Formats: sequence, C-alpha cells, structure tokens
Amino acid sequence: MPRAIARGENTDRRKTGDGTLAILNYPGDGTGMKTGKALIDDVDACEVLPGQCALWWLGQQGFIAKLGKIVCYFDPYLALDPSRQVPPLLNPADITNAAMVLGSHDHGDHIDRSAWPGIAGASLRAKFVVPMLLRDKIVQEIGLPGERVLGIDEGIERSVDGVAVTAIPAAHELLDEDPATGLHPYLGFIVEGNGFRLYHAGDTCLYEGIQAKLRRPRLDLALLPINGRDARRLAANCIGNMTYQEAADLAGAVQPGMTIPTHFDMFAFNSADPQLFADYMQVKYPRLETCIPRHGERKIVHRKN
Ligand SMILES: [Zn+2]
Repeated sequence: MPRAIARGENTDRRKTGDGTLAILNYPGDGTGMKTGKALIDDVDACEVLPGQCALWWLGQQGFIAKLGKIVCYFDPYLALDPSRQVPPLLNPADITNAAMVLGSHDHGDHIDRSAWPGIAGASLRAKFVVPMLLRDKIVQEIGLPGERVLGIDEGIERSVDGVAVTAIPAAHELLDEDPATGLHPYLGFIVEGNGFRLYHAGDTCLYEGIQAKLRRPRLDLALLPINGRDARRLAANCIGNMTYQEAADLAGAVQPGMTIPTHFDMFAFNSADPQLFADYMQVKYPRLETCIPRHGERKIVHRKN
C-alpha cells in the first residue's frame, strides 16, 4: 500500500525569486511525483487502453483523469494560497491538453476562478462543466466564452469528445437546492468513456438515496472526500464532508472497482488521515480495493469485469 503523506512533512513553502511557490518533493513520495511540464508530458505520453483510466492527483479534490485519449481535469486547485500545505503542481498555462475541466461547486478550492482563464487560454478546445445553477454567473464573472461553459445537473447529460458526463447532487453539508429551479449548487460527476465509469464526488456528505443513485451501472472508480465535519469547522464557515467511516460505508454500499480517498491533504485545519480510511476499508470491506493517492503520480485503474 502506498504510504500517505504524514502531517507536517509537507509544510515547507519556500518562495522562489519570482514570488511563486516552489514545487517541493515530499519525503516518502518516491520518484513518481511529477509537476509542471513533466507532469503534462507524462499525461500526454500515457497510453490508456480500453477499460482503463489513468489518474493523477493534484491535491485536495483535484484530479487529472485520462480516458483513452481524452484528458479531463476535475476541480484543479492551482491558486498560490499561502495556507496551502501542498503547493500547486501545475500553473494554469501548463495545461495544454484539457478536453474538459469540471468544477463541482463554486468554492475556491474546487472552481478556482484564478486558474480557469489561464487553462482556457492554454487548452483552446477545452469545455468547462459546472453546475447549471451557477453557469451564467461563472461565464460572466470569470469571463469565459459562453459556448465553452456547459451547465449540468441531475438529469442533464453532456458529452465532450465521446466522454459522457452526468451529475449527482451533493450535500455539502446539506442537500441544498434552488427553490425556484430545483437546481443544485453542489454536484458530483459521473464520467464515462473508454469503457470506464468513474465518480468524482465533489464535496458531499451522505444523504438519503445517494447510494441508489451510484449503485448501477457499477462504478469502476469512486473518488470520495474523507475530511469529515464538526462544530469547530462549521462555526468557522468551513462546511464539511463525509467522515472516513461514512466514505467507507458509501463504498461498501456501492461496490466500486476501486475507491480512492481525497480532500485530506490541503489545509491543516481541514484534514484527515487517509490511512484510517484504508485500514477501515480493509477490515470492513476486504473485497473492495482502495489506494491512497500520491500527488502527481500516475495511477492506472483497470475495469474489473
Ligand atoms: Zn472542498
């Protein structure tokens, strides 16, 4: 099992001469971590066979997923925020290969407004997928061309270069919906292409019915937040997610081919230990595969059936 990044190991954030944060190597990450152009080159060079997904973790809920030749960015959080524990692995201008950029909700660590114009400029064909409820606001306030921004919600399907995207409402911490339209400000995504089906949960807690929405067709991969929630964080306006136990039980109910815990690394005040998740999965759902992600390191996930 890959080793998790221990708390406190990755807090050195040196400034470089031009004011950008240095990209650091994390003790224990081995040689697999790539950043910047080397990471983009690794994504471009990676051959993804049918029934496979190649995955690179960008920290927090950010992932690159490559299905066949199609490269999708989920919640890429690239802002140079000094409270980050993990420096950005990429600059927006590095991202020349995006077919699709998905933003699960309008919080800075998910839809990073500072990054999207740069990504749009570097990946001229990329489409941006956001909650329908927020679409017009995002188009206006970020300044992206309207035809490049696709709104989505439960019951709406989008397709980009043969990769299909549908949405699962998310409860962050409550299952909010707009009273006028019934649209949801917080979403998760199901992305299907190359004979592979993955769920990126965005930020969510459990709610009645989420298991049934995710059970069929079977997920090959689920990316689930585990940072939990409590009074201290909620009082500080930091709304929360599933605990690691709840994330494990969601996996147990849904039986994905692979489950990867996320959203535990970025902020000291809002973190969790992914090893507790992995240990709990191993004891409670020993037949389910899980793996703790490592920043910037390629992981190929295979469809099981
Ligand atoms: Zn979040």
